[in-house]
Amino acid sequence: MPLSTEFLKRCKECKGFCCTLVIPPVTEQEKEKILKAGFEDHFKYIGNGIYKITKDKNKSCPYLQKDWTCEIQSVKPDLCKLWPIIPYIKNNKRGFIVIKCPIYSYLSKEDIIQAKKEAEAISDIVVELIWDIPEKIKNKYKQFEYEKI
Ligand code: SF4
Ligand code: SF4
Repeated sequence: MPLSTEFLKRCKECKGFCCTLVIPPVTEQEKEKILKAGFEDHFKYIGNGIYKITKDKNKSCPYLQKDWTCEIQSVKPDLCKLWPIIPYIKNNKRGFIVIKCPIYSYLSKEDIIQAKKEAEAISDIVVELIWDIPEKIKNKYKQFEYEKI
């Protein structure tokens, strides 16, 4: 998602809600890109070429800064770039939802079309892993409406 000042403003008001709940799995290539850019290594290998980013002591993403912005903005994982559009797999087909979090109303139709295109390229294993989260965390997202797109 192109970063706009409106997004930044809303995310600061929202206190990085999404980055304090779920941190997406990352591929080897994504991990290497982040490390090559000089950022700290918070990765733990979980198998199948996928890493998780280990949470900090506040149970948030370690790249979430005190001002609620992302430290690794320029190289953040694809799923973070696409948020609030999330891919899913049902009956072997790729689908998408958009979470109507505070930045939703600032997304253009073009942003959503582009995000869906990019989300098509995310591997099935990464897509499956994003949904493999405890029910109590899924419930926290229910404060926002969502829509299949
Ligand atoms: S939930 Fe939406 S508004 Fe809140 S921090 Fe995440 S992207 Fe920003
Ligand atoms: S990498 Fe950045 S955008 Fe992604 S969860 Fe961490 S702080 Fe949030």
